Amino acid sequence: MRKPIIAGNWKMNKLAADGARFVMSLRDEVPEGSKVDTVICASFIHLPFLTEAARDTPIRIGAQNMHYEKSGAFTGEVSPEMLENILVDYVILGHSERRQYFHEDDELINKKMKAAFENDLLPIVCVGESLEQRENNETNQFVRNQVKAAFEGIREGDAKKAVVAYEPIWAIGTGKTASSEDANEVCRTIRETLRELYSDAVADEVRIQYGGSVKPENIAELLAQSDIDGALVGGASMELESFLKLLEAG
Ligand code: PGA
Repeated sequence: MRKPIIAGNWKMNKLAADGARFVMSLRDEVPEGSKVDTVICASFIHLPFLTEAARDTPIRIGAQNMHYEKSGAFTGEVSPEMLENILVDYVILGHSERRQYFHEDDELINKKMKAAFENDLLPIVCVGESLEQRENNETNQFVRNQVKAAFEGIREGDAKKAVVAYEPIWAIGTGKTASSEDANEVCRTIRETLRELYSDAVADEVRIQYGGSVKPENIAELLAQSDIDGALVGGASMELESFLKLLEAG
């Protein structure tokens, strides 16, 4: 059985003290042995404060991006080793906002996947189609190709540990959620792609999240689907009360 994983993605929001307070408050609410994995993904500025606030708790902290090089002349970038060094566990890779506004392509995301595993970081790799692709019935093929590209050259033992987030671009921050059946169909396609690329063991172990306007009112139905193992949540992860409701549903 796959353990559900609920990850908040704060994007470029909150100031440092607010973020740390949030995680301090979360400490009391996420007991050891909790039935969901709880992750907060925040901007780089927050991360040292958040890993400190989450110390000795099951709460895990994630970055929202990173560079793939180990170190060197890359002004403005943050390396995987720097993240690992401050006890960050997860890293979101290939979020559609990064693909769209910062021109990240499949090849770059694949390099980052490899760099994440080399530094003991667990990638949450995002895939998902545009509205136009959905309307043209290209969703499954497009998402399959994104998954294949992201996992190119990743060893089976690492692939198992990855989290894939299916986030239809048209559902992110728009209030429009994919129907739970449609979301599940694409998540199943992702799982079958992993089965073809690797094995039953990988396909059955990798956790696949849905993301895109997830909120307390719709999370239970999404999580009840056979191939949805969690959620990557933007807007509804920002307030403690609503984030706690998401965790309860997990
Ligand atoms: P949203 O964002 O929940 O605000 O739609 C999800 C995401 O971009 O990860």
